Amino acid sequence: MQILQDISLKPFNTFGMDVHTDYYTEITNPTQLAAIAADASLPAKRFILGGGSNVLLTQSLHGIVLHNRIKGIEKVKEDDDYVWVTAGAGEVWHDFVMYAIANNWAGVENLALIPGTVGAAPIQNIGAYGVEVKNVIDHVTAWHWEMKREVPYYNSECAFGYRDSIFKHQLKDKVFITSVTFRLNKTPEFNTSYGAIEQELKKMDIEEVSIAAIADAVIAIRSSKLPNPREIGNAGSFFKNPTISLEQYDNLKASFHDIPSYPVSDTMVKVPAGWLIEQCGWKGFRAGDTGVHEKQALVLVNYGSATGGAVWDLSDNIVKTVHDKFHIELEREVQVW
Ligand SMILES: Cc1cc2nc3c(=O)[nH]c(=O)nc-3n(C[C@H](O)[C@H](O)[C@H](O)COP(=O)(O)OP(=O)(O)OC[C@H]3O[C@@H](n4cnc5c(N)ncnc54)[C@H](O)[C@@H]3O)c2cc1C
Repeated sequence: MQILQDISLKPFNTFGMDVHTDYYTEITNPTQLAAIAADASLPAKRFILGGGSNVLLTQSLHGIVLHNRIKGIEKVKEDDDYVWVTAGAGEVWHDFVMYAIANNWAGVENLALIPGTVGAAPIQNIGAYGVEVKNVIDHVTAWHWEMKREVPYYNSECAFGYRDSIFKHQLKDKVFITSVTFRLNKTPEFNTSYGAIEQELKKMDIEEVSIAAIADAVIAIRSSKLPNPREIGNAGSFFKNPTISLEQYDNLKASFHDIPSYPVSDTMVKVPAGWLIEQCGWKGFRAGDTGVHEKQALVLVNYGSATGGAVWDLSDNIVKTVHDKFHIELEREVQVW
């Protein structure tokens, strides 16, 4: 295991922030984590990095970056209906989706083209087009820094919620996810009702729906809508869609007639954060190299040499203006370091 010093993380985060870390190493095997834990010469502060697509780096990191490169995909069991597949946490998420589709195993096709690694997927319970990854996770295996061993966390123990899980709370900084075991469906239940999937399938002249066709439709929609981090630095949605009470929503509707919402329960609704931000006039805003994407108000961008601090300040101003106008508190989805 090679430990490097004073490394720029610019190539390793999709915002493209040029921030340095004191120490850096790649983790290709869970056994290396025991060695890291036992090495007293290494800094105690550890930063776990996957694809760097959900982090905003605002300052130099004084500690060690553990870059997850644990690979391997294996079918571990099956029955008549399901197949259980374990993927190394460092596998690229989209590659895993393509692998599942190639084998005709259903459940992740709506999540095609989400950037990042398999290991980060459970952390914020990634979701898109009506599907969340929690629907197909059997268990998550993680190295526990205090127990000094790998521990399985079964689905019911992961406290999955909207862009949320136990890994953001009780287990934050306590574990390194090493693999995820999925339970995929041998007989697909297609989920095409959300977003523009059905429309896209029609446009593609698809007569018989398949998981491959759904993934193709999702890829086409995402490619046309979301800025590619290779072209403009960004981390996807910067904020979560806030959940508010139906009562607050009804009050807001009196002043803002076209405020959109999605039902969450009998008493709560979700309001699209992008709409709120757009109403505050931020869409397409640019100051130097820091900005709000011109087509997606939910996506903050680095046009080249923005700093993490400038993006943070912009996000702060957005939070304030949305609060002043709607009395709604936006919560950042992106992890800030
Ligand atoms: C263009 C774009 C579109 C996106 N679209 C979506 C979307 O549709 N839906 C969605 O849910 N998300 C979306 N995202 C966000 C992002 O892709 C996901 O959050 C993804 O799961 C992050 O994976 P990563 O490997 O890049 O994580 P990183 O950014 O590297 O890390 C994110 C956090 O997880 C921690 N972490 C990472 N790996 C591990 C590990 N193995 N063990 C313990 N902790 C770990 C890190 O320390 C950090 O706190 C989008 C991002 C971009 C740039």
